Amino acid sequence: MNDSKEQVSFMIWTGDSPPHVPIKELSTKLVISIIGNLSSTIRNFFPDLQVFPALGNHDYWPQDQLPVTTSEVYNAVADFWKPWLSDEAISTFRKGGFYTQLFESSNSHQPLRIISLNTNLYYSPNKVTVNITDPANQFAWLEEILETSSQKQEKVYIIGHVPVGYLPYARNTTAIREYYNERLVKIFRKYSSVIAGQFFGHTHRDSIMVLLDEEEKPVNSLFVAPAVTPVKSVLQTESNNPGVRLYQYDLFDYSLLDLWQFYLDLRDANKKNESNWKLEYILTKTYGIEDLKPESLYEMAKQLSMPHSTLFEQYYSNYIVSYNKTILCEEGCKTCQICAIQYLDSSSYTDCINQEAMWR
Ligand SMILES: [Zn+2]
Repeated sequence: MNDSKEQVSFMIWTGDSPPHVPIKELSTKLVISIIGNLSSTIRNFFPDLQVFPALGNHDYWPQDQLPVTTSEVYNAVADFWKPWLSDEAISTFRKGGFYTQLFESSNSHQPLRIISLNTNLYYSPNKVTVNITDPANQFAWLEEILETSSQKQEKVYIIGHVPVGYLPYARNTTAIREYYNERLVKIFRKYSSVIAGQFFGHTHRDSIMVLLDEEEKPVNSLFVAPAVTPVKSVLQTESNNPGVRLYQYDLFDYSLLDLWQFYLDLRDANKKNESNWKLEYILTKTYGIEDLKPESLYEMAKQLSMPHSTLFEQYYSNYIVSYNKTILCEEGCKTCQICAIQYLDSSSYTDCINQEAMWR
């Protein structure tokens, strides 16, 4: 990261600290102590850096069952995150696991608003929120914050763990329940001029989404960053190398200019018994676009969706963090990837999937 010569202003940490092991191997106490360990590790390494964390679906016990009211976990985590967050942010976090806070930059004339959502409340396996239209009143809160931001002409970054939109590796599957997905997409479209970027995790993979409005105009850039831990299910042939990234933003309007993706070749690291983190790619260079603004990402998506696009092969290699260049994503696999990049709501996504033949 030092090679990029960029000055780091803050860190986004999208959650999921505990190991992904069977429920009975963990407990509330263990989950809390793991999040505490990682929070203090980050603070020890970066004592002066502002960190904006978000809760993940594994940051609770039993996993995925994050509650809509205050809980032992929310309270304990709020205490760990106090050094980074304001009293007001800590207070909403205790109630529902989400918060908003202003980032005052010494280099910029206006502050940036961070909204850290608890999208785990919308995550499909969360049984606590079944049949609740607005879990923890987060939608109402979010709309209120965005409305005020829009009146004050602020710029906002949305951060969260489980992403909005469709999963790129599955067909017709949103990570959060479809009803919540539709609602979030609607809010993000309405306030797209305020939102300068969105950042998620959860899938362990590197993927991009561009939110289009009802007229197919690109209005928001969304990024799912790969994890520092690999993940592999028995049904998958591929896994991911560990990754961390650095974004560059415009100091005037916080629009996203570029990203440097760094990775660790895990096989090589195990062989040599040393970790040698390297630059994997620079987004604008790899995809031949000017910046990371919605219009540019849309242009990139159009390139990727061309039949036999070699750029798409590169995208897929980046998607699994250079895990294995020989794994190809064709036909049905490519359709799901291409549709997930550009279509976040059910109606446009379904149209895309139905035009499958076009992407081959
Ligand atoms: Zn997760």
